[in-house]
Amino acid sequence: MCNGKHIDLLYTIKQKYLRIMSLHKCPSCKEIGLNWRVDDEISELTIWDCWECGYQAFENESYVSECPDCGYAYRILIKDDYTNYWWCSNCEKKTIENELEL
Ligand SMILES: [Zn+2]
Ligand SMILES: [Zn+2]
Repeated sequence: MCNGKHIDLLYTIKQKYLRIMSLHKCPSCKEIGLNWRVDDEISELTIWDCWECGYQAFENESYVSECPDCGYAYRILIKDDYTNYWWCSNCEKKTIENELEL
């Protein structure tokens, strides 16, 4: 029988699942390649890197909020070289934020 193939398929599904759970949609290239890390030597803020396009941004975790458009609970406030903005990786809405200091 084809047990080997069956196990391979399960493995693939598991890998896909893990990837989606830990990675988020990138605001720059829209691929699921955005991952976070913490590195005190670079910044006190959480660092978001995209492994697909190399985009990098910083997040202040104290500003996590619910997305007003889709209800997703983890809309994040990030800043890159150009601007500060809210990013909802669920509905891909990017909202410029000029009031809050990161
Ligand atoms: Zn990207
Ligand atoms: Zn949303």
